[in-house]
Amino acid sequence: MDQQNQPQSGDTHVCMGTCQAVITDEQYKGGLTACGAESCDMKGHPLGKGHKDEATGKNVSEE
Ligand SMILES: [Zn+2]
Repeated sequence: MDQQNQPQSGDTHVCMGTCQAVITDEQYKGGLTACGAESCDMKGHPLGKGHKDEATGKNVSEE
């Protein structure tokens, strides 16, 4: 049992582009549904359901 580093139980959304952003469900519901990072190669693409893999530090898509 080591869940102290887990984000809150709600869903998170991730950008699979170069920015590797992780968006909380709260932010997503607030209208942040696509990547907005200027330097990201996925800018403007919808964010997918996913999470950051603690082992690799990279985002993992869950869909
Ligand atoms: Zn991005």
